[in-house]
Amino acid sequence: MKNCDQFSEMFEAYALGALDLGERAAFEAHLATGCKNCAKAVEEERWLVSQLAYLAPDAAPSDMLKGRLMQTVRAESQAAKRNIPSRLAISYWMWAGVAALFLATIYSAWNAQRLQREIERANQIAGAILQRRHELEIQLEVAKREAAILIDPASVKIALASPDPQSPRLEAKWHPELGIVLTGQKIPAPSGNRVLQLWLIPRAPGGKPIPSLTLRPDAEGKFVLLVSNPPELMADTKALAITEEPAGGSPAPTTAPRWVGGVS
Ligand SMILES: [Zn+2]
Repeated sequence: MKNCDQFSEMFEAYALGALDLGERAAFEAHLATGCKNCAKAVEEERWLVSQLAYLAPDAAPSDMLKGRLMQTVRAESQAAKRNIPSRLAISYWMWAGVAALFLATIYSAWNAQRLQREIERANQIAGAILQRRHELEIQLEVAKREAAILIDPASVKIALASPDPQSPRLEAKWHPELGIVLTGQKIPAPSGNRVLQLWLIPRAPGGKPIPSLTLRPDAEGKFVLLVSNPPELMADTKALAITEEPAGGSPAPTTAPRWVGGVS
């Protein structure tokens, strides 16, 4: 019985598995001797422990059991602390995964933006090509019309002379349907932004000069001007005249004509 007394406070802890290895070995050695008193107590404790789950609010473990449970909890938390590096490692992997996802998201967004920029750039290039093609088509149409006017026997040749004998002559060809082509060579460019403007002088008495297109010779003094739709019929036009005017041209001549040529 004295032996049993030494174990009397261990029944609960034993049933809970909270005894340390030495105490557990000693108690199990005692149970192995066939002590029915302790075996019965352990059996009752195990039943009680099995009921603890249901009785939890009312179950008040002894101070000793509390102490042993606390020891067990501390031992487990110590073991848990020793496991922290591996848990941290898992955390690092998790964060690495989150970071990778984040970077993938940023990359996707960046890639989408880059793609968008490339599409916009391709559209700009395509637009520029179409624009250039349109300009070339217009230039081709102008060149074809100019050529047609210059070679067609129906065109009327008009020589424009200058009051200044040093100034080169200009030449115009007027086709009744296709319009006027005016050409010049070695013509000094007007100063600044000023331009040369073509005028149609009506046959009708007192008719005012009718404004037409403006031009500037190129660096070599050459120009070819196409007037597709002259503002007056050839039959109603007495002469062609050219004056120097401000940029954009004028509604009425502001200077004396530099070239004049009669339409025969
Ligand atoms: Zn005993």
